[in-house]
Amino acid sequence: MNSSSPIRLQTGDALIAVDVQNDFLPGGSLAVPEGDAVVPALNRYLAAFAARALPVYATRDWHPAKHCSFKAQGGIWPPHCIAATPGAEFALALALPETAAIVSKAATPEADSYSGFGGTDLAARLHAGGVRRLFIGGLATDYCVLNTVRDALAGGFAVLLLADAIRAVDVKAGDGARALGEMQQRGARPIRYEELAP
Ligand SMILES: [Zn+2]
Repeated sequence: MNSSSPIRLQTGDALIAVDVQNDFLPGGSLAVPEGDAVVPALNRYLAAFAARALPVYATRDWHPAKHCSFKAQGGIWPPHCIAATPGAEFALALALPETAAIVSKAATPEADSYSGFGGTDLAARLHAGGVRRLFIGGLATDYCVLNTVRDALAGGFAVLLLADAIRAVDVKAGDGARALGEMQQRGARPIRYEELAP
């Protein structure tokens, strides 16, 4: 396949917006540098999917107050995305359609999951909807996007990675670039919005 040929959205495609939540945006408790840049970028894809009535899924961290990933419980992160708090809400400017399917993850104290597939019914919902190809973007490149892409590919989905709608935490310099390389090596194809057929 010619990688420069336009990408036509079609039946069997779905968009997954990964963890575009206030705590991961600038000003949030676990802010991703330039995390807010994914919002307008994702909105363009969301409009394209809406125009074709294609399904959209939005994953979210949905942690209890004493979650195992928080430092006080021995984890590595500050408290973030505590269920039903403002920090856990999707970015206000994210134009999710009414019909978007919400996928909550890591919602019990002892379980964490960077992947939208971990401990959720996401795979079953995608299969039930006849989804074969996933367009994945959101936050953060080197954690929840990476792990969601890994699981999607392992589960047999084709993955188009929205390279213009992801941002990395980069706890260690270069983490985001390494994650991008790994996702490509595993078979994800990075795309930009301009590559979509009009
Ligand atoms: Zn979390």
